[in-house]
Amino acid sequence: MATKSAGQLFDKVLIANRGEIALRIQRACRELAIKTVVVHSEADADAKYVRLADESVCIGPPPSAQSYLNIPAIISAAEVTDAQAIHPGYGFLSENADFAEKVEKSGFVFIGPRPDTIRLMGDKVNAKIAMGKSGIPCVPGSEGALPDDPKEIVKIARAVKYPVIIKAAGGGGGRGMRVVHTEAALLPAVSLTRSEAGAAFGNPTVYLEKYLDKPRHIEIQMLADEHKNTVYLFERDCSMQRRHQKIIEEAPAPGIALRLLTRIGERCVEACRKIGYRGAGTFEFLYQDDEFFFIEMNTRIQVEHPVTEMITGIDIVQQQIRVAAGQRLTIRQRDIVRRGHAIECRINAEDPDTFAPSPGRITSYHAPGGPGIRVDSHVYHNYFVPPNYDSMIGKVIAYGDTREQAIARMRVALSEMVVEGIKTNIPLHQELLLDDSFLRGGTTIHYLEQRMAKRKQTA
Ligand code: ADP
Repeated sequence: MATKSAGQLFDKVLIANRGEIALRIQRACRELAIKTVVVHSEADADAKYVRLADESVCIGPPPSAQSYLNIPAIISAAEVTDAQAIHPGYGFLSENADFAEKVEKSGFVFIGPRPDTIRLMGDKVNAKIAMGKSGIPCVPGSEGALPDDPKEIVKIARAVKYPVIIKAAGGGGGRGMRVVHTEAALLPAVSLTRSEAGAAFGNPTVYLEKYLDKPRHIEIQMLADEHKNTVYLFERDCSMQRRHQKIIEEAPAPGIALRLLTRIGERCVEACRKIGYRGAGTFEFLYQDDEFFFIEMNTRIQVEHPVTEMITGIDIVQQQIRVAAGQRLTIRQRDIVRRGHAIECRINAEDPDTFAPSPGRITSYHAPGGPGIRVDSHVYHNYFVPPNYDSMIGKVIAYGDTREQAIARMRVALSEMVVEGIKTNIPLHQELLLDDSFLRGGTTIHYLEQRMAKRKQTA
């Protein structure tokens, strides 16, 4: 294996992901003059970023379990190509502590936090306890996991007050949660969530939280090096969601006082220092009545990272790579300024009304451009969207001096964008970009679903 002295950047990085983020990471590496190895499934053999990579290795058939989640295949690809580090992107193995550990044990650098940090944050009960201890405000609820004794569970729910939400400690991707409005429904909901969690995540532990009725989803982007230099890159508002999946994200969050953001940002820095956090990461909060409540930490790059890059001018993926190589952060908190406004629309291959996935061949493709427009996408004319993976085919990001200008630019961009042959959610975005409540800013996480329910009634 090629050796590397402390702080020196890698010669070669293996990208253990696919789609737009594989291309995004590849671009960051190429700009830093780092060679790239892309691993891919048979379904992605023709992808453009596979051809652009210095080397590529096919690691298995289309199903993720046999390719993008195949740890031995990925590690042997790193071995045969002599890569020094592995970037996991998001999803797939990015928050799998066992993978991170195996990567490091095999002599490669994992571009992300230490395995024990991933493990801590991957268990939401332990994460919440650790964050509470570090001074991060959490949603009121059970202190730790729910006990077995039904009487105790009833007592906890009464103290928290209905409605409550039962959540799986090992949950993720919006799964493993159940809202409970009455005491009669409590115990059945707890057993159901427990058995589902056991089957889906291999961990039946559940906990209980107050169900917030009108929260916004606000998250704080963090960057930390191994030497405990830690900064926060302000916030993102990701409240526009359907089934807990974000579809529009923006920064800054409309209407939240800078003093509140500064206070929570500083607490996040403290918490990262306490747990020895390394790399990029995101604290996710629900925000209601001027208060932040921690729900979870994501220990990886996020889909919506570009909005933060646009308003801060910091390349988060390059910073991830630099700190993984042991470099010190050169960015100081006082130098980080938010300038302008950025909005991201996730473009999904799906029916805009039913949300049914719409894989297939893109028969015509034209990406938008112009001032302030950034398109992060791996697709092109004649690209085949495989049915095996997430339906996101790219992201359009619009930047403007003001929120109004960013929205206007996004409207123009989406009107120029052509994706034919498959269905996309572009019409839904276009509708939302004209929606009065969205234009005012500050809608809650329930807004989109309520709006769609209303539309169904009037249809
Ligand atoms: P996941 O890891 O599955 O994304 P989270 O804990 O981040 O789980 O929750 C996902 C989403 O579920 C949140 O963005 C929010 O929409 C909703 N949610 C979670 N906890 C609560 C709560 N206590 N009250 C209201 N909504 C919640």
